[in-house]
Amino acid sequence: MGNENAVLPERAQSIRYSECSGDGSGIKCEAESISGAVSQRACVFCGARVVLNPITDAFHIIHGPIGCASYTWDIRGSLSSQEEGYRNSYSTDLRERDVIFGGQKKLAAAVDEVVATHSPKVIFIYATCIVGVIGDDIDAVCRDAEEKYGIRVIPVKSPGFSGTKKTGYKMACNAIMNLVTPEFLPEKTLGVNILGDFNLAGEMWIIKNYLRRIGVKVVANITGDAKVDDLKKAPTAQLNLVQCAGSMTYLAKQMEEVFDIPFIKVSFFGVTDTSDSLMRIAYAVGDKEVIQRAKVFIEEEKNRVLPLLDKYKKNLIGKKAAIYVGGGFKAISLIRQFSEFGMNTVMVGTQTGSKDDYEVIQSLVDDDAVILDDANPAELEAFMKEMGADILVGGVKERPLAYKLGVAFCDHNHERKHPLAGYEGTLNFASEINLSMNSPVWETISQGGKENV
Ligand code: SF4
Repeated sequence: MGNENAVLPERAQSIRYSECSGDGSGIKCEAESISGAVSQRACVFCGARVVLNPITDAFHIIHGPIGCASYTWDIRGSLSSQEEGYRNSYSTDLRERDVIFGGQKKLAAAVDEVVATHSPKVIFIYATCIVGVIGDDIDAVCRDAEEKYGIRVIPVKSPGFSGTKKTGYKMACNAIMNLVTPEFLPEKTLGVNILGDFNLAGEMWIIKNYLRRIGVKVVANITGDAKVDDLKKAPTAQLNLVQCAGSMTYLAKQMEEVFDIPFIKVSFFGVTDTSDSLMRIAYAVGDKEVIQRAKVFIEEEKNRVLPLLDKYKKNLIGKKAAIYVGGGFKAISLIRQFSEFGMNTVMVGTQTGSKDDYEVIQSLVDDDAVILDDANPAELEAFMKEMGADILVGGVKERPLAYKLGVAFCDHNHERKHPLAGYEGTLNFASEINLSMNSPVWETISQGGKENV
């Protein structure tokens, strides 16, 4: 292994490879990034923003310099069935003068303007790094605005430096609890909430359609294609389905404690996970008819999809996959999907995986597979090369790393425009990785000298 130069000594315990920390004791994770390591991880504010942004009729004021506000709908391309307001961002555009004299007045003026222009039901106000430094009291601004306008104005205390991206998820979950908690606990209805699907490329609609087909009613989407009034009904649900476990397990636990709603973790990536999840939902709902309908639906879908997947499989068998994604939940599903295709995962990492996630990951990959938490570009490039990956699955920040090395790439992050969840999504995924890995361009590059790319 020739990657000693790519790995800072302080990072060694966060990586499992043949000569490093592969003692089975677990990978160091859920820790702050090492200074100077140039982590691929997003900041606390971004973690909060990606969870709350898909609420389609909420308004988001970013209290900070204009650069923070560039993290907007274009980065989390969640679709809406109705409202479009969430595609805009509002910023207080803090400057040097505000840093010296404080930005609270500017924030209050921004709230006034948004209320006057849009008559919002809910405004989320995000504190960014500089607000954490100068100490503006955003709680006071929110309180005053709620009194003045009689709407919900909810603080999201998310200075970028105040933890990891996962801290941002927690801040967003707290904001959601703040929004949906009623004065008195309502009666339960027969229905479920979906937590942690952000309706990327319409995936929430695919999952809701599956649930409709098996006879399960959805009370609230949290937060893909969500509307404020629907979110407020969430406490009436009988069960929470947690899809993106990294961002939403915290909310699910809070809802269990406060609203007495149990939860199960599900995944709709890959035929096996989708089918297992639908059956587990049916059994958790506990209705005999739902269980029967789920069995029939899954059978029909498998009969439809598996022969189509077989057509791709012959091109995929034996290929080597590298994965670098946000959460452990998605990484685990991807490893399983690659196994279904006859592929081998040789490198896998996440930005926010937990100890439990990494234990599952270790149990799913070969002993010599590289596992990384909170990686940086140098590590990803070095291990992709070392392990001979044929494709990298990641997000926008990983794409250039793969292309520079002449390795195929598949975007499995917020920006993509086609669904990868459910049975349809599995077909899309197989088609995309097949096209990407087996494109003649890689041949041309290797003949022309990969080194020059
Ligand atoms: S909150 Fe801080 S780390 Fe995050 S985008 Fe703004 S300045 Fe950057």
